[in-house]
Parts: sequence; structure tokens; C-alpha cells
Amino acid sequence: MPSKVKQPPLKRINKRRLLQTPRGMKDILPEDYLYYDYLIEVTKKTLEFYNFRRCEPPVLEKAELYNKSIGSNTDIVEKEMYTLKTKEEGEFLALRPEYTAGIVRAYIENGMFNWPQPIKLYSFGPVFRHEKPQAGRYRQFYQLNIESIGDASSALDAEVILASRAFLENLGFNQSDLEIRINSIGCNRCRPLYIRALVRYCKQHLKDICKDCQKRLKTNPLRVLDCKNPKCVVIKEKAPSFLDYLCGDCKDHFKNVLDILDNVGVSYVLDKTLVRGLDYYSRTVFEIRKKEKETSLSLAGGGRYDYLVKLLGGLDRPAVGVAFGVERLVEELKVIKKKFEFPKPKVFLIQIGDAAKKQAFILLEKLRKANILTEANLEKDNINSQIKNADRVNAPYALILGQQEVLDGMIILKDMTSGLQETIPLERIIEELKKRLVRKF
Ligand code: AMP
Repeated sequence: MPSKVKQPPLKRINKRRLLQTPRGMKDILPEDYLYYDYLIEVTKKTLEFYNFRRCEPPVLEKAELYNKSIGSNTDIVEKEMYTLKTKEEGEFLALRPEYTAGIVRAYIENGMFNWPQPIKLYSFGPVFRHEKPQAGRYRQFYQLNIESIGDASSALDAEVILASRAFLENLGFNQSDLEIRINSIGCNRCRPLYIRALVRYCKQHLKDICKDCQKRLKTNPLRVLDCKNPKCVVIKEKAPSFLDYLCGDCKDHFKNVLDILDNVGVSYVLDKTLVRGLDYYSRTVFEIRKKEKETSLSLAGGGRYDYLVKLLGGLDRPAVGVAFGVERLVEELKVIKKKFEFPKPKVFLIQIGDAAKKQAFILLEKLRKANILTEANLEKDNINSQIKNADRVNAPYALILGQQEVLDGMIILKDMTSGLQETIPLERIIEELKKRLVRKF
């Protein structure tokens, strides 16, 4: 077993004097980035089978894009957007608080409406919301975003849900631990009727709902259904259900989505209070969360947005999408004990003396080119500390290059398991290592 290297005592750091990350933001350290790499790999593998292609809009967009799309009376636009004014042009820009608006802008700007529809895209990157930081809620977090633009068919709603489910399964989640909550919030024809009924109902309970919801009744009544205040939670339980107000077309659409899910064997829960916090949604809305707790945070949320392309200046192109919160997925992967390791070096290269060090640089590059993962401490001259590190790294082979070996054109190859070592011509070492590594692994 390699001996554990003792860490030097940490110097005390005066945290107040240190420049720290802004509140609600964190560094993604190498150990954690292994999870992000895994998520990207599974995203790519899963979504390519559903014919989605990656597309990345810029992190900064004109702030107006979000005012228009997400809605100026939503929490995201009212309170949570990071905005800035550029120094020279005085342009108002915003760090993206979500992906959909940017993707729709890209769809219109790049003439994707002329391509065969639907356009199926996915994105993976950071988004920014100035929310109150707490567990599972950050101010910078990553989203995996999936969009299918250009077709109104219920088949696409179902496909986005099926792709989401496949993605979670491929990550290692058990379907029976997950819950898909689903609702329909109708179209521009039937939604006003529902909103009227909801406002009428809430006005009968005006004293029993929170102050924010009393205001929301005037600005954005659907958001009352989203309120987590315990007083409002009780009241909304008896609120009218959207499903009773859907027009014929919306009813058919929703029924078709559910039929496809039933046929494929996907279970779901109808949630009449699910509305989602962004204005652009229409018809199907859904969330995916862990089943365990009523209060557990959602892993993903999505739905249709049939009016957004037109609202942002494009043609009449219906669409549907979903966004996953990457940090929440990483936390859940840790809960289910998914572990990742850095690739393990196969060889540790030790060099002794100036001539050997020069030769070691050349050899190291050759080993890397030959895809033999090698570690070395070329910054160190001390043989003992190099041997200690070779032990810690636990590579199956060590190469030792001293002054004499350089002069003779040889190198020592040591099998770290048996302890046996032999001297081999330097020019044959790569070939020799390849042979032995094939035998060993
Ligand atoms: P939304 O864009 O609000 O529909 O959220 C989509 C997903 O992003 C949610 O289901 C969460 O998993 C994740 N999410 C939303 N807000 C945050 C946040 N502040 N911190 C971390 N993840 C978030």
C-alpha cells in the first residue's frame, strides 16, 4: 500500500480579507467536475438517440429578450436578473436566467424556421438568478436544456418527457424513485376563462391568502397556484382545476400526451396546481422530482410555449422544452453513491540528474503521444520525494532514468507489484510498456 503523504498544516486565512466568490456562487472543483463531465457524456449519449443537437447561445443577451419572453411580472425578471449596461454603447444586457428565450432568439435569427421542422436542440451551461441562496438553490447554476421547436403535435410533448426520463435512467436513477407531475394550462382562448374562475375563487378567500398573492391576483393570478406560503397552500387545494376549463383542442392535446405516456408505460401524477413560474408556457406543463418528500425540490421543469416564437418576432411556431438543474442532479448522484475517479496513471517516471531530466521531458511527451498515462515530478530533483510520489500514485510501473542510463541509452523498468526491475534500451521502452500493459489490464 502506498504511504499516505502528510499534508503540511494549513495556514490560517483571514476570510474577511480574502476575495471570495459572490454569495450563492461556488467554484466547481476538479472532484466535482467529474460529475459534470459524466452528466455531459450521458446527455450527449441519450439525446443523440432522440436526434437532438447541441446549440449554445451566448451567456449575455439583451435584457429586453427576457422581459418580453419570461414576463415582466415574474420573479425572474422582477427580482432575479443580473443586468448591466455596456460602457460604450450603453446597451442593457442580462446574464441568461434560463435558456429557452436565447434558443428561440437563435432559432429566429439563424432562420431555423426554414429548416425541416421540428428543430431539436439541447444546451448545457451556466444560468444566473439573484435568488435567496439555500440548499439546492444557487445564484449561478448549470442547466441542461432541451427544446423541440416548430410543431404543435402532442407527440413532441411526450417525446421531451420520454427523453427526460431516459436521461435520468441513463444517469443511474431508479424510475420508481422519480415522479412526473403534469398539468395543462390551456391556450390563449381557454386560459382567460380559467383565470377569471381562479380570481373569483381567491377573492372569496382574500383574507386567507398572503399579501403577495393578493397582489398577484391583479398582476399574474396563475402565480397564486405556485405560492409556497402555508396559508395559500391550504386555499389552493380547493381552487378550480384548469382541466375543467380547457377548450376542446387543449383537452384533446392533453389527452393525447397522456395516452402516449400510458402506452409507453410512463407513470405520472396529475397536479392541478402546477403552473410553472414563467409567462410563456401554454398547454402541457410538467416537473420531475424525487418521490420521497412532498417538499423535495424539482430536478427538472418544462412545458409547451406555443406563442413564444411569434412573440419574439418569428413566425407562428409552437414549441416544447424542459430544463434540468445540474447541481441538483449532482447532489442526487452523490446520494445514490455514484462515484467517479480521475484516470489512474499506468507509469511513474523518475529522473535523477540534469541529463536525465532533459531526456525525461522527451520521453514523457512520447509516452503521452502513445496514450500511456504517465505521471512524473519533473520539477523535483530529490529521488526520495519522487519515490514517495510514485508510491502514492500507485501506478503499476515505474521508469527510472539516471545519469548512467542516459549515457548507455537505457532505462530501468520496475514492476511495482512484484518489485522486479530490469534495464531496457530506451528506444524500445514504449513498445515494451504497451505489451505489458495489455497483459496486465
Ligand atoms: P426553471 O428554469 O425555473 O423551470 O427550472 C428548471 C430547473 O432548474 C429546476 O427544476 C431546478 O432543477 C433548476 N433550478 C432552478 N432554479 C435553481 C436555482 N436557483 N439553483 C439551482 N437549481 C435551480
